[in-house]
Amino acid sequence: MVIWRALLLVYRSIDVTGFRHTLGEDDVAAGLDSFGRFPALAAELSGGEVGVAFEVAHAARPLRSLTPMGDGMLWPSPDDTRAELDRLAPPGAWDSVFALWPQRDPATGAHVPTGGWGLAIRATEWSNGATYATVANADAGVWARPVMGEVWLHEWLHGVCDVFAGRGFEMPPRDADGGGEAGYAQTPSEGWSAYYRDLMSGRVQVGDRLLGIPPAAWRTGSILTPAPLGPSPLAGEEAEGRRGGRSGQC
Ligand SMILES: [Zn+2]
Repeated sequence: MVIWRALLLVYRSIDVTGFRHTLGEDDVAAGLDSFGRFPALAAELSGGEVGVAFEVAHAARPLRSLTPMGDGMLWPSPDDTRAELDRLAPPGAWDSVFALWPQRDPATGAHVPTGGWGLAIRATEWSNGATYATVANADAGVWARPVMGEVWLHEWLHGVCDVFAGRGFEMPPRDADGGGEAGYAQTPSEGWSAYYRDLMSGRVQVGDRLLGIPPAAWRTGSILTPAPLGPSPLAGEEAEGRRGGRSGQC
């Protein structure tokens, strides 16, 4: 099993022009609970080929800027999380970085217009070499439907598919977003799991070929491989060590 190292940055507060909001303890807990289901989902759907080892870091400052993504929409790009990225996720530290951010105040309906609940980009120098994905706060019911943790898996898969495509493994069109085109459907009980399972085992049929991430791809290692699992760059109360066992743009 390849170990994929992931860091979740939690922004409890946002303070940008026109929108200021702080998540409640329950809102943060719901996001963390969802994220905590993602490693097991990744392990299961990959047939045990990948284990996600993660840590959580709480940003000490509010998110103070956002990056335009067209049509008046905004998102927390690596430019906006730069202070935490450079301190907690320097190059070589993590395979994947995630950020949970306050995008909507459910009490008032005030929100930042953005491109999606989850957004992801591939691993480049912009994100210090890690895949990078952001997920906005949501109501408890949204986190739970249809499969807890699926949003993180989905965004992570965009980045991961790009990594393996770069190693010569062909992905189905639009990788994590390609379920419908490949003939799969989202179900009320399993979400897109059937598609992700085939995507994560290289069994998505496109024409006469089977595409995705086969075991042989996982076995080429994570982004940081062959770097061994070393000490975390996090320290003190900021780190909540957890271990368990998902970029593009959504
Ligand atoms: Zn997507």
